[in-house]
Amino acid sequence: MQDPLVQIESNVRGYARLFPAVFNKAVGSIITDTEGNDFVDFLCGAGSLNYGHNNQHANAALLRYIQANGIQHSLDTVTTAKVEFLEAFERIILKPRALDYRVQFTGPTGTNAVEAAIKLARKQTQRSHIVAFTNAYHGHSLGALALTGNQFFHSQFYGSHNNVTHLPFDGYMDDYDTSLLLEKMLNDSSSGLPKPAAVILETIQGEGGVNVASDTWLRRIASLCKEHEIHLIVDDIQVGNGRSGKFFSFEHAGITPDIVCVSKSIGSGMPMSIVLIRPEIDAWKPGEHTGTFRGNNLAFVSARAVLEYWNDPSFEQQIEDRSQIVQQKLQAICLNHIDQSLSFRGRGMIWGLDMRCGDLASQTIQNAFKEGLLIEGAGASDQVLKVLPALTIETSVLQEGLRILESAVDAAIA
Ligand code: PMP
Repeated sequence: MQDPLVQIESNVRGYARLFPAVFNKAVGSIITDTEGNDFVDFLCGAGSLNYGHNNQHANAALLRYIQANGIQHSLDTVTTAKVEFLEAFERIILKPRALDYRVQFTGPTGTNAVEAAIKLARKQTQRSHIVAFTNAYHGHSLGALALTGNQFFHSQFYGSHNNVTHLPFDGYMDDYDTSLLLEKMLNDSSSGLPKPAAVILETIQGEGGVNVASDTWLRRIASLCKEHEIHLIVDDIQVGNGRSGKFFSFEHAGITPDIVCVSKSIGSGMPMSIVLIRPEIDAWKPGEHTGTFRGNNLAFVSARAVLEYWNDPSFEQQIEDRSQIVQQKLQAICLNHIDQSLSFRGRGMIWGLDMRCGDLASQTIQNAFKEGLLIEGAGASDQVLKVLPALTIETSVLQEGLRILESAVDAAIA
């Protein structure tokens, strides 16, 4: 086929260069191009399709809703779609986990949730400083960008560096426990760190290279925040919605953040983001933080439908079973190339295969594409292959994707 880049260079970047194809259909974890080629999808819409493409339950609910002339858009008006989502979210997700949060609808994107979270923390504490971490990714609008660690996305001219200190994430300094650094800085008035309004973190940094914070580190950070009355914001935009193996990624560590950002897969492909706020710190006045597309009722319908997965007591075990399959294959790949010092890390259904070199990772991505697998790089130099299959992927499709990945790595190293 003609290279689509020739026609669309002006308006499609990044992915078009990686994947020279035009895609037009997708079901579950298979995405198809206009030439009829099928690809196993390990991109998962950057984590927005945890329940697969065209999830049958979400689609059925959406079709019923549209055919019944349901409300499409409502801003803050109360609608049945909004009430049903909220009722189900409380009953299926919050109550069984003994979590007491208010839900704020923040708009279509994850970045919208991050912006709302940091504004709220600043307003409520009347402090403006925020601590974020190396390799963090929180979005690209100016407030969220300031929290994003990777300098590739920054420019001094954006004026976005104010009031944020980046500290080393867990594992960044090999065996040194970096929570001790935060502790020291908070307790030492000469450290130059103003008392922060919030500490924001991803429990597993997705874009940053699948860096998994240990439960112990997370508990230390949470207890420091509590001790110093600093809000802990967990950005669960990529690793929430079951990606880590539990609905919220912070459940593994048994911590309860003050504010949680949720987006991507919450709407199962429909754009939606929410912020969960401990009721005691909900300092918003009505209408104080707003935006038109907070009321996308189609997203509420889709989101309501996929919450049903969490009513199935075996769902977490199903994710864990698939997780084991991924781990075993990544372990085999690393052992087969022991002289290259490849390594892997992850949890649940987010895994990173660290190729240690961006060129090797990029060659593997291209090889995989040729064999029928879509996968992308992450990390500061795109050296990590991010394995992000749908939580609901059929085992045979998962195995086929991993087989292609192995063959693509072999060919890149050969
Ligand atoms: N936070 C995290 C952890 C993310 O992974 C992303 C998106 N990759 C964002 C925030 C920003 O979300 P969005 O692109 O929907 O604005």
